[in-house]
Amino acid sequence: MKGALIFSDFERAGTIVARDMAEGYRLDDPVVVIDSRKAVEGAVFVALPGERTDGHRFIGEVFAAGAAWAVVSRQWFTEKGAEFSGPGHRFLVADDPVAAFQQLAAAYRERFNIPVIGIGGSNGKTTTKEMVAAVLSTSFNVLVTQGNFNNHLGVPLTLLQMRRDTEVAVIEMGINHPGEMEFLCSIACPTHGLLTNIGHEHLEFFGSLDGVADAEAALFRYLEAHGGTAFVNLEDHRLAAAGATLSRKTGYGMEPGEGRAWWAGNIGADRVGRVSFTLSSGSGVRQPVAMRFVGRHNVINAVAAAAVGAHFGLDPSQIADGLGSLQPAKGWKRMELFDDGEIVVLNDTYNANPDSVRFALDTLAAIECQGRKIAVLGDMLELGGNSAIEHEAIGKYIRELPIDACLAYGDDARLICRESGERCLCHFGTMDELRQFLAGYVQPGDAVLFKGSRGMRLELAADDLIKQY
Ligand code: ATP
Ligand code: MG
Repeated sequence: MKGALIFSDFERAGTIVARDMAEGYRLDDPVVVIDSRKAVEGAVFVALPGERTDGHRFIGEVFAAGAAWAVVSRQWFTEKGAEFSGPGHRFLVADDPVAAFQQLAAAYRERFNIPVIGIGGSNGKTTTKEMVAAVLSTSFNVLVTQGNFNNHLGVPLTLLQMRRDTEVAVIEMGINHPGEMEFLCSIACPTHGLLTNIGHEHLEFFGSLDGVADAEAALFRYLEAHGGTAFVNLEDHRLAAAGATLSRKTGYGMEPGEGRAWWAGNIGADRVGRVSFTLSSGSGVRQPVAMRFVGRHNVINAVAAAAVGAHFGLDPSQIADGLGSLQPAKGWKRMELFDDGEIVVLNDTYNANPDSVRFALDTLAAIECQGRKIAVLGDMLELGGNSAIEHEAIGKYIRELPIDACLAYGDDARLICRESGERCLCHFGTMDELRQFLAGYVQPGDAVLFKGSRGMRLELAADDLIKQY
């Protein structure tokens, strides 16, 4: 069929399209898209099988929008390709469009001789990559992963956004199976890498924390094998061990210590919990940093970003400016703070597990406000057989804190309510009931924490309350 290039060897196909792009082919536009609605004149559309819909359904639309190429599966092409033939309709036919997309991205990335910083680890990747990007943006034109696009599709999608004027790329890399970090490295070819920490993530696939560490440390192994540089969190003993034999590395931590080039001194927080610290180095730097982020865990994320910034030649005041100016995006939902002088709302509804719920409750307890401290807690999902015990333990924990009221939402959260004794105000079975209650209950001067697993969608209640003020 005319206009169809059939490559069984997709590396070659990828190289051809990538060359087209790198040699001035509408470089200013998002040229490779997997979302048909984003297809523009000259775009390469990759038809991926999605959870809800199959990209192949939109081939007609993307060509109508001016797309230059469609990457399609061989099966679709055999059955339907002829229906969509037409002038300027060019197909790349692949046995596996997902693999083709990844190879396209890898071939494209190869054409850029710039630092690519891979950010992996169990917790805090998105936060840390935002901080690294904010710091580096004070001096460089930075490409950074949008949102949480950190997987086998998000990483290639981000790489394909590199442009001629991109000076540094900061790429979040998320994994949930052994071997995935190796794979993401083979596409992104990072020159620098940072692992935030090793924690409980997808233990059903990794088996144990050591299993997580081994899988994540593939980033370090890749860097070592390719002459790259690692940033090593020496607070994490598994990462310290994984980083011990690396030839090119910068160590960092929360306190001074052996091998630590950067650390944080004088850690503090303002009235509503926004953190501050003194960025410190073995060479005598003592730079105050005041952040707009709430929560002590953000200090180590910030020190990591500072270590990266310093490696790229930024001076401490620039690093502090970058960190200080970064504002959690709207809809951030990780200890997202609203403080208008009347009420304080902490929206921590991105996710929830027993540790992070305790931590959020501690933060609420430490807020200085005129009115009451109110915890609105939803279910912690995916705790399996421990669920009842863990929810009850949170209830008991609340009893010991200076928190005035606990509102619970969801089936399991009922147990939090039961165990929190007199702090327990109400349990709600539906979001509507919760919203209505809050509208009448919260008063100026109050501080309200919203915390629950993502599936509980407690941000809806938080947004409602904020809209009222
Ligand atoms: P995901 O796996 O969903 O991509 P992530 O690793 O990108 O997550 P973030 O989205 O930055 O992580 O943060 C998610 C949650 O992890 C935050 O709400 C916070 O509770 C917690 N967190 C962030 N940084 C750290 C840290 N350094 N140590 C421990 N927990 C952290
Ligand atoms: Mg993330």
